Amino acid sequence: MSTVIDGKAFAAGLRERVAQAVKIIGSQNGIKPGLAVVLAGEDPASQVYVRNKGKQTAEVGMNSFEHKLPMDTSERELLALVARLNNDAAVNGILVQLPLPTHIDESKVINSIRVDKDVDGFHVENVGKLFIGEDSLVPCTPAGCLMLLKDHIGDLTGKNAVIVGRSNIVGKPVSVLLLREHCTVTIAHSRTRDLPAVCRQADIVVAAVGVPELVKGDWIKSGAVVIDVGISRVKGKDGKSKLVGDVDYAAAMEVADGVTPVPGGVGPMTIACLLRNAVIATCRQHGIEIPSVIT
Ligand code: NDP
Repeated sequence: MSTVIDGKAFAAGLRERVAQAVKIIGSQNGIKPGLAVVLAGEDPASQVYVRNKGKQTAEVGMNSFEHKLPMDTSERELLALVARLNNDAAVNGILVQLPLPTHIDESKVINSIRVDKDVDGFHVENVGKLFIGEDSLVPCTPAGCLMLLKDHIGDLTGKNAVIVGRSNIVGKPVSVLLLREHCTVTIAHSRTRDLPAVCRQADIVVAAVGVPELVKGDWIKSGAVVIDVGISRVKGKDGKSKLVGDVDYAAAMEVADGVTPVPGGVGPMTIACLLRNAVIATCRQHGIEIPSVIT
């Protein structure tokens, strides 16, 4: 019998624990964490994300600072805003919503964020620290995938993990996190030969591709655990648009031990992990212990 890995419920629990951590820091140290989110342009999906982030930041008791900039904002203006936020003691975490307008160099902006305020974990120094196993701010979606896997499986040591997708924001960091948990990791991508056969070897499949229902039921080994990161909007049989993942969910549920649904799986974990990162960043900046409720 397959289990639905309920990311929505896990994320709600994590947000509660983050709220407790915020209370502890407030009462013991008189500090209220602050998270700044910067949005440049009018991408509709980004606007929804930013609104949700702001709402959930306030709900866990943190200060939320939103900076909405017009599409024609110059790179210089954006870098100047990041520099101001870097120096603002009330701001402990900075997130610049991607994608940025095409005339702005994304990596230049991301790498201008103070490393200890980079709550997305995309700064090259945080990426490097993650790779060599030093304390860093870990990218949110990969961190969420790992939490769901550990919650469902427990010890991951020795598991064969196949990660489909090698992006810098999901595939690669998930692979490093699973390697750190002593999995044997295979990273697959668009040039991988015989992807179905590669997936069939896996105790754990993480699909982060962006191709609707690419991973079929007969690619999944009996008893494997499947984490579906993909989110695509497609037209259903009834003609209405719906969200689907990178995995054929119904077919995977027939064979797997557990599968994350889309929506309601990895998606809600991303913001919850962002809020957790903001608390971790605050503690490190002030040299105080990270409350054990979120460690
Ligand atoms: P990218 O487009 O950056 O990367 C996609 C990866 O998939 C690439 O490595 C690509 O290979 C690989 N790929 C593409 N087609 C195939 C194929 N047919 N077979 C095997 N591999 C393939 O995507 P992201 O990593 O940014 O995102 C992936 C998905 O996850 C998207 O649906 C996105 O919306 C979702 N997402 C969800 C989040 C959440 O919060 N739940 C957060 C971030 C992303 P190659 O490198 O060879 O081109």
